[in-house]
Amino acid sequence: MTDPTLAERLSAIDERIADAARRAGRDPRSITRIVVTKFHPASLVRDLAALGVTDVGENRQQELSAKRAELGDLAVRWHYIGQAQTNKAAAIRRDADAVHSVDRTRLADALHRAAADDVLDVLVQINLTQDPGRGGAAPDDAEALAEHILGLPSLRLRGVMAVAPLDEPPAPAFARLREVADRVRLLAPDAAWMSAGMTGDFVEAIDAGATHLRIGSAITGPRPARG
Ligand SMILES: *Cc1c(COP(=O)(O)O)cnc(C)c1O
Repeated sequence: MTDPTLAERLSAIDERIADAARRAGRDPRSITRIVVTKFHPASLVRDLAALGVTDVGENRQQELSAKRAELGDLAVRWHYIGQAQTNKAAAIRRDADAVHSVDRTRLADALHRAAADDVLDVLVQINLTQDPGRGGAAPDDAEALAEHILGLPSLRLRGVMAVAPLDEPPAPAFARLREVADRVRLLAPDAAWMSAGMTGDFVEAIDAGATHLRIGSAITGPRPARG
């Protein structure tokens, strides 16, 4: 048997997403599948767009900016999903359509200061582990950070994002994220996104109500080693 092609991997994942959504009693169309293209060449993004992919994710500012510059003609939405240094905020704001990883007020302020006359979609990243070294705000700090963002007119708070911990099953972790998402949504009706679920745990994320899945290797194949 030959290796499945990109198109085959994409449609296989989309079938699994649709099945999981229906089993959870959800409309598959309420779920956005973001293809994470980090470490892969810009040509892969072009191939994905030709297959109808509308949303891609990157986790490093330089790579995001380089690909966006190379693919300026491409009608895809770029989601920034990585740790963000404050001094990269202006470049991230310029090149991303949505930033999933806002985890502190200083970063929100820096993104706001870099505004032109547009409005940027942002999510509050939540740390579901006990390790403060992992990205994300503590669940108890989510509402204060959300309130801060709501005071910055160039940012539109869209919801919450998290990565499942490595040392616990994803379902209870995503259930905690769901609680945080519900509390944040009470503050802002626009904040209905829940960005969760990767190659290994997107079914559990769909069960917990994820609206935005960030799927990389199951679609793109293994990531090339970074030089
Ligand atoms: C790389 C990455 C993903 C995708 O991971 P896969 O396991 O390849 O699907 C999702 N979210 C974040 C934040 C990532 O860095």
